[in-house]
Amino acid sequence: MIDFTQKLWHRRRVPKTNGLSFSRPLVILQSDDWGRVGVRDREGYEQLRANGIRLGQHPYDFYTLETAKDVTAISGLLKRHCDGTGRPACLVMNFILANLNFAKTEEAGYRELHLLPLTRGLPGHWKRPGLFEAYKQGIADGVLFPALHGLTHFCRRAVEHALSENAERSALLKTCWQAETPYIYWRMPWVGYEYCNPEKPHAGFLDSESQASLIQQAAAYFKKLFSAAPVSACAPGYRANHDTHAAWSACGVRVAQNGSGTPLPPYMDDWEILNLHRMIDFEPTQRDLPTEKYVEVAADCFARGIPAVISVHSINFHSSVRNFRGPTLRALDQLLSALEAKYPNLLYVHDGDLYEIVNQGKYKAMHRAVSVGVKQMELAKSAARGAH
Ligand SMILES: [Zn+2]
Repeated sequence: MIDFTQKLWHRRRVPKTNGLSFSRPLVILQSDDWGRVGVRDREGYEQLRANGIRLGQHPYDFYTLETAKDVTAISGLLKRHCDGTGRPACLVMNFILANLNFAKTEEAGYRELHLLPLTRGLPGHWKRPGLFEAYKQGIADGVLFPALHGLTHFCRRAVEHALSENAERSALLKTCWQAETPYIYWRMPWVGYEYCNPEKPHAGFLDSESQASLIQQAAAYFKKLFSAAPVSACAPGYRANHDTHAAWSACGVRVAQNGSGTPLPPYMDDWEILNLHRMIDFEPTQRDLPTEKYVEVAADCFARGIPAVISVHSINFHSSVRNFRGPTLRALDQLLSALEAKYPNLLYVHDGDLYEIVNQGKYKAMHRAVSVGVKQMELAKSAARGAH
């Protein structure tokens, strides 16, 4: 085992087609969309309805923005769930680093979009007293781990194209923006994802320079907000290609999060970025499964020696228009308790810990080093390529 660890430390010698397996059951919680505003609470909800948008048909019609209380409640729950080292469970929170500056975009005649970075607060009438302090307290307590999602969630080029070329879409955007909601994705999937434009003028991934500039800007805001560079990143909509990974790598990102489509074990890619695939979609807002179902999937992961990477989006913790938070915290409490009972030697880690484990065979938990064995295993070449 020690031999393997030393080999892995010299990362260049690791064949890229090998997946990694671990000697302990590892649990990672990853969560997207933090910091991204949606429907502006009850007031914005009523305004959108008054302007003809028939909200209430989909959970994302109730997507607002987390409150300080939502964040404090998650942190409280995580603190109550410790592993054998005494270390609490940790939520990797992927942040969107800017919101639309609605007023400035309107002033500019909608010819181009203006953004307001999170470092300068929230746009317009959005109010979230104590929210940033709640993030920071959770980070200081070791139960939250901030990571990079993007500068915006939507593809800026797609939205600017809709504004100038499509009257119907442009009208819908303006209706949303008057209520200080940037968009509601399921109603307008043509807004795309940050690095991937679904339609005209050029469908597909943005060129490498455009992606690099977006990622550099987002990473700079991240550093300003959290006083540290991002270690882990997850592309909006999981739409990332080689250029995305190259740009992340240049900004110091060491871990790439991938969606749950392909249940691959962790592996190193061409940029020496550790790739993690989500294994369990835990989204009580979208569907309600009994705890045992999730535990079964986690058991499969542990049997293969791979971490149980649990995906849970921020909407599940929102509470301002609809109380998603209460049921989610109850279900998460049950899930973590069930895992702890079945696997008393499990370890709660975050993406940065896993990177340390892969490279050094150990990581720091509660101020002491904890060793975890790492082995390489076969990973079909086609599967590794398909995952990029
Ligand atoms: Zn997202």
